[in-house]
Parts: sequence; C-alpha cells; structure tokens
Amino acid sequence: MDWFPIFLRLRGYRCLVVGGGTVALRKTRQLLAAGATVTVVAPELSPGFDDAALRAGVEVVRARFESAMVGGCRLVIAATDAAAVNREVAAAAEASGVPVNVVDSPELCGYIAPAIIDRDGVTVAIGTDGAAPILAREIRARIDAALPRGLGRLAALVARWRATVRRCLPAAAHRRRFWEAVVRGPVAGAAMRGDRDQAARLMACALERAAAGDLSPEGEVCLVGAGPGDPELLTLAALRLMNECDVVLHDSLVTPEILAMVRRDAERIDVGKRCGAHGTNQDEINRLMIEHARAGRRVLRLKGGDPFVFGRAGEEMEALARAGVAYRVIPGITAAAGCAAEARIPLTHRDLAHSCVLATGHTRDADPDWTRLAASGQTLVFYMSLTNLDSTCAELMRHGLDAATPAAIVARGTRADSALLIATLATLAEQARSRRPAGPAIVIIGEVVRVRERLDRLAAEADRRARSVDRGPADPFEPAPFTANL
Ligand code: SAH
Repeated sequence: MDWFPIFLRLRGYRCLVVGGGTVALRKTRQLLAAGATVTVVAPELSPGFDDAALRAGVEVVRARFESAMVGGCRLVIAATDAAAVNREVAAAAEASGVPVNVVDSPELCGYIAPAIIDRDGVTVAIGTDGAAPILAREIRARIDAALPRGLGRLAALVARWRATVRRCLPAAAHRRRFWEAVVRGPVAGAAMRGDRDQAARLMACALERAAAGDLSPEGEVCLVGAGPGDPELLTLAALRLMNECDVVLHDSLVTPEILAMVRRDAERIDVGKRCGAHGTNQDEINRLMIEHARAGRRVLRLKGGDPFVFGRAGEEMEALARAGVAYRVIPGITAAAGCAAEARIPLTHRDLAHSCVLATGHTRDADPDWTRLAASGQTLVFYMSLTNLDSTCAELMRHGLDAATPAAIVARGTRADSALLIATLATLAEQARSRRPAGPAIVIIGEVVRVRERLDRLAAEADRRARSVDRGPADPFEPAPFTANL
C-alpha cells in the first residue's frame, strides 16, 4: 500500500481549486458536498460555474494562480490543462505543507481521491494507488450493487441507539453480539426501508430481550420474487438477500442458474418437491418458514416470478404475522412481464388494449367471470393454463370473444430453451395439443399479439434496405433460442 486512506473533515474549511473547466467544476462540486468553502482560481470559467446554488459556496478569483493562494487551505486541487501551472500549484502546496491533488498526474500528488460510494453517512472509498482508476470504478459498481440503498438510515439508527445500548448492555462482548444481530436482522430491514416506527419497536424488543440475557439473533423471512428464470432479471435486493440468507425455501419454478447464485453454505429446501408437485401442502411450508426464523435464521422464501402474482404470498404473510415472525417482501418480474418482453408482445397498447388481466386457467373453486374476460379491448394473460386450455378457449368464444383473436403461448419464457407458439383463439388449443410445449407456460390472448408480427415485418423491410451495406463476417454465435417453433 503506497497511499494511506483517511477520511478528512472539510466542513467549514477552505479548499482551493485551480482551473475553470469541467474537471475543476466536478471537483468543486465534490468539495462542496463535503461542506468545504471553495475558492476557484482561473482566468476563465466554464458556464457550469454560473449555477446559482454552486456559487453560494464558492469564491471565484478570475486570475492566474499565485503561490500565496495556497496559504490557509485544507486541500488544493490543480485541474488545469496547462502542465506548467499544475506543477507550479503542486510545488507551492508542497512547500506550504498543504495536501495537493493534481488531476491525472499521480507523481505530482500529495493525496489522491478514491472512487466513492456515498450512502448518507456510510462511505466506501476504493483506491488503486492511483494506477487504475477505471478498475476502481468497476469495483465501485460491483460494491454499489451489493449495498442496500438504505444503509445510511441504518447507520443513523445505530447512532441514535448507541448510548442506550451501552447503558443497557454494559459488557462489551454482549454489545458486540447484540449489534451484530441488529445489523443482520429485521431491525436493519425496517430501518433501511425507512420504517422508523417499526425499526424502533423491533429495536426496543430486541434490547429488552438482550438485557434479560437472550442474545440469540432474531430470524426473519424474506418473501422474494426470483423472476421468470433468467438470472439477469433478478432485482438487486433479491441478489443481496440470496447472498445473505441462512436457509432458502424455493419452489420448483426457481431455475438452477438462480439457485446456484444463493450463498453456498445456505441450507436449501426444495418445497416444490417436498410438498408435492404443486406445493399443495402450504401448511408445511408455513411451518418450515416459522421454525427456521424462530431458530434465529435469515430465511429466504424464493418464489418464481413475483410473490404476489399467483404466489400464495398472501397466505404466507398471514401465517408469519400470526406467528409474530418478522418478514419483508421483495417483488420480482412476473411471468407475464418477462414473457411479454421476450416475445415483444406489449401487454397494453394505446390502440389495441387498455387493460391487461392476469388470470389463471387452473380454477380450483369458483368459475371465473367469463363474460368479463371475453370483453374485447383488453389483453388476457393466463397462468397455469395448459391443462385447461381447451375449455378456457371454448368458454371465451362461447361468451363472445372473436375466434380470430390472436393468441400466443410462451413456454419457459426468458430461459435458455424458451419457445413461442402463435395461433388464434380458435386454433390455439389444437396447436398446443400437437406441439406439446413443455411448461411452465403462459397464454397471452388479445390484439397485442399482432404487434410482434408488425415488428418482424418492419425489421424485414429494414433488412432489405440494409442489404447493400457490407456487414462484415457472419455472426459466430448461435441464433437466439427464442423461436416460433415449439
Ligand atoms: N408467481 C409467479 C407465478 C406462479 S404460478 C409469477 O409471478 O410469475 C405458476 C405459473 O406461472 C406457471 O404455470 C406459468 O403459467 C407461469 N410461469 C412461471 N414462470 C414462467 C416462465 N418462465 N415462462 C412462462 N410461464 C411461466
């Protein structure tokens, strides 16, 4: 390590920026964000410096740099495009003992600035000894994705409770265990999503338990949507919780690629298999979630698509609430959205469909309202629809939906072996019988299905026009697996 990292207090101190271009402007903004008073020295300033809010904290000196200007400064930054001026600034600052940064010239620097992630009080600084800023930025992007947005709120909660916790738990070892449990558990979840009341309530309970000698961590269940299959469609929150959980309860829709991304030492329970092909034994799943959470584990209830769309999350939340187990819900991309995007079939369209109904072809109890479903001007998306496809299509036609309405089946949407079948309401069931798509699959019915054909026609026309242009060597990759032939 050639550079020693520190965090410097700038609030209320004066800093000097030499230069009036866009880099100087960026540096000025960073210094202002840390509370510094900034003097900018340059004969000419870029228009960005005219910004009124910026000018409030900036003193502008329209002149050439002079050595005496570094006196009394906390930091100096040289950001001119004149190498001689930059050297002059570096020498003057060095002589006065003021740390100096010369943009893009590490050899002239007394300090270098790290790449920063700022979460309102939680700051991550990444350095590469000034050698590879691009690498620092790449690392920053990865860490940024892994850190929850609400981290600053969590830090604020810790700060608020610190003195109280110290009073209630005098032994340092107890305090450490307590805080470890807090920052990993439900208190942190509530604080980070901005629910201060809930965070305070949970914190007070946890502290009371800890003061009475119970320092075991409190468990929590996260009901998380894993999307339709492609790991690229996971949310940042889902990915982070997959990395943090102690035990994962997943159903059969969660793909092996996504499961492979769950923390290695997390216990995996396939509740799809364990509880029957269609997860019929919901009570058993509820029991497992509650049991693991009560044992202090962070439970990930990982579901295909979105937990709130045919995902039984309603029942699971109720069971957890009844048992007094903390939970949170992270949405996922539902099959309708994932499949529609892949098939280029918009779910609503200004000219073709003003609403979209998510329905199921697998009706356990009551019959759906076929008259409403058969109304025109909307898109119907049927989940769990292959087994009853015949009767679904027949009912829709019987209740007045035009037999020529275009219809599609998207099978295993967004997965490597996804497939598409396009037909009409009249022919869909017959086509599905002969082609036998492998599930999971959704059925999309409505005029929006035609959009895809229109797009294909437009692409073919554009292709014909572009024929004359040399397009270089052939693409070495396989064609996309998404295909109209099941
Ligand atoms: N919560 C899930 C739906 C669970 S119900 C979601 O929001 O997507 C299970 C049904 O979802 C399947 O029968 C099928 O109709 C649909 N489904 C799930 N993943 C799918 C995929 N990758 N492609 C097509 N349909 C899918």
